[in-house]
Amino acid sequence: MIRELIDGFAVTWQKMFSKPVTVQYPEQKPHIPERYRGRIILTRDPSGEERCVACYLCSSACPVDCITIQATEREDGRRYPEAFRINFNRCIFCGLCAEACPTLALQMSQDFEMAETDPGRLIYEKDRLLVDHGGKYPDYSFWDEAGTAVTHALGHGRQDLPPSDPRSNMP
Ligand code: SF4
Ligand code: SF4
Repeated sequence: MIRELIDGFAVTWQKMFSKPVTVQYPEQKPHIPERYRGRIILTRDPSGEERCVACYLCSSACPVDCITIQATEREDGRRYPEAFRINFNRCIFCGLCAEACPTLALQMSQDFEMAETDPGRLIYEKDRLLVDHGGKYPDYSFWDEAGTAVTHALGHGRQDLPPSDPRSNMP
């Protein structure tokens, strides 16, 4: 009993002289790690075009079914979402949608200040999701890598390796 009391007072005494960890929010903003899974954003590539190709992979990966997309196509064959909606009332911020996105369009941001008194305000349409920057990958352009059509022979693309010859492995 006495031993536990002494241990308890020792901890109190120690903490009296250590630096406080309390953050005076909202006047003082807490440090948010770069990999924090906050508000979801739709980013743009370096040319300012939206990255999303409306492939539905994010909505397929979402375990709570809170992403709704309507795909359409431009005259040059480039796909984009005519409508993109995320219901943040249901989102569990698991990050699976960002993991699934092949174009790095959908990213989790560090913004955690999403509290609303009206649940309807937590249903974000595209105009509230699409930002005017590239997020964590400002230099990446999916369309420069993939193109909108097949424009080169196999093995001659920017990231292609020459086709392998399976016979070369045979003794
Ligand atoms: S973070 Fe998870 S729950 Fe939220 S939209 Fe993405 S996949 Fe769905
Ligand atoms: S955000 Fe990414 S995964 Fe979702 S539809 Fe657009 S390109 Fe596909």
